Amino acid sequence: MSVLPGSFPFNPIVHELLHWGNIADARVPSKFIPIMPVDILHSDFKPRPFWWDGYEPRPLPDRDPPKRARVAIVGAGYAGLSAALELERLGLDAVVLDAMEPGYGGSTRNGGMVSGGVSVGKRYFAKPLPPAEAAPYLNDAAEAFSHIEDMIAREKIECDWTKAGYFLGAWCGGHYKAMARRVALLNAEARSEAYLVPEARQREEIGSDYYRGGMVITRAAHLHPARYFKGLLGLSQNRGISILSKVPVTKLSRWGSSWRVETPRGTIEAGDVVIATNGYTGDATPQFKRRVVPVGSYIIATEELSPEFANMLSPKNRSIADTRRVLTYYRMSPDRKRLIFGGRAKFGHTDVIETARLLYTFMTDRYPQLKGVRITHAWTGNVAFTLDELPHMGKLDNLHYALGCNGSGIAMMTYLGHQTTRKIAGGVNRVCAFDRPEFPDHPLYNGSTWFLPWIGRYFRTRDWIDRNLLG
Ligand SMILES: Cc1cc2nc3c(=O)[nH]c(=O)nc-3n(C[C@H](O)[C@H](O)[C@H](O)COP(=O)(O)OP(=O)(O)OC[C@H]3O[C@@H](n4cnc5c(N)ncnc54)[C@H](O)[C@@H]3O)c2cc1C
Repeated sequence: MSVLPGSFPFNPIVHELLHWGNIADARVPSKFIPIMPVDILHSDFKPRPFWWDGYEPRPLPDRDPPKRARVAIVGAGYAGLSAALELERLGLDAVVLDAMEPGYGGSTRNGGMVSGGVSVGKRYFAKPLPPAEAAPYLNDAAEAFSHIEDMIAREKIECDWTKAGYFLGAWCGGHYKAMARRVALLNAEARSEAYLVPEARQREEIGSDYYRGGMVITRAAHLHPARYFKGLLGLSQNRGISILSKVPVTKLSRWGSSWRVETPRGTIEAGDVVIATNGYTGDATPQFKRRVVPVGSYIIATEELSPEFANMLSPKNRSIADTRRVLTYYRMSPDRKRLIFGGRAKFGHTDVIETARLLYTFMTDRYPQLKGVRITHAWTGNVAFTLDELPHMGKLDNLHYALGCNGSGIAMMTYLGHQTTRKIAGGVNRVCAFDRPEFPDHPLYNGSTWFLPWIGRYFRTRDWIDRNLLG
């Protein structure tokens, strides 16, 4: 271990420049991003997910698609496999197709933090949903948490499920006051077992004085996302579900009352089609591409830390996130040896090394003790935002869909995949709150994300105003 707390010759000007690069969110060419005096990259550094050391998505044995299937599912992530498993349980045959290796998307790249609704109804562009409107969504988000927890236990999925709670740090005093208003709603509607933590007691939750207090959600967990995916994949394969890798769906067309699902390897005739492509939704489904906005999220993993040091950073092993618009989220690795630190560091396209440097400054802003600790992994993946900032399932143009995790989809996309199948099979006695007739689009949005850096600038400015002017 080479942890050198306090020894990092961290230059305040470099720090400011990095923040400037970040505030501007312009395409700052790498040559203008200052090289840190001590390089932050470990000699074993890998630009790929830390989770892939535990399970790496790989192609499945090569095979042609079947000629027919009752249901064709596009996308083999949590949503697609969850839908397929429920179809199999109900005796309906399904084929799952992925353009890449199954699990290539967000499902093996995420932070592994599972909460039952803390971010549902939170909105960046509009006022938060009023309690009566938010309640049904929170009820279903709580159900999503129960669903994943029960399934992992029932199916004995080995994925380091740890119900250690979640600490949401308030970026400013105003955010803390807003949390106070939200606690009762979360407890009443999402069974969150939430409570406020004043700034004076924050050190009981996190080894940092960065926040202005926060909120604990007791009913929250973290897991190893790639091992959770591996568990779903293994279950699907054991139950004989047909899953094809590296077979992109290129075109969907109606054929009588069924669908023709075209791929480079052949065409499938399917009774129903489920779109489960989330942040990787592409041209095969333009009607969905213009309803979800893919946004890159980035993560770094530190080298191994001593048990004492790790315990000081996160004494209760919670998942941690903050209320900034440019949010960060972090947790210890399942063995509690590394900090896994993520955020929306950049809103435009960037490479993971450039972003790793930005994330490093965010991390050491929160934990100055980590200056000098090197990072071993850095990676990215796409999340899918929707225009009303809510997840969606339903039917559009006769296509079923489960889309729009809005950044929190481990429990939610698993649940929406399952709910989509229940809808197809006609086995629901209650409509899921996320199954709404409207899935908003916008005449000026066609799936092109040229505007995201401008949103990044707006978010950073609002964050700065909240903390520095509004307090
Ligand atoms: C960096 C990062 C951190 C995150 N952290 C968290 C977290 O801590 N907690 C949390 O709850 N959520 C988190 N998320 C979100 C979570 O990972 C996603 O919500 C979830 O994985 C989405 O699962 P999915 O099955 O809907 O889609 P994905 O897993 O993204 O799968 C979509 C699949 O569709 C395939 N595809 C696309 N187009 C086609 C086509 N035409 N034909 C065939 N296949 C196609 C892709 O190859 C891909 O494999 C994070 C996401 C990222 C990227």
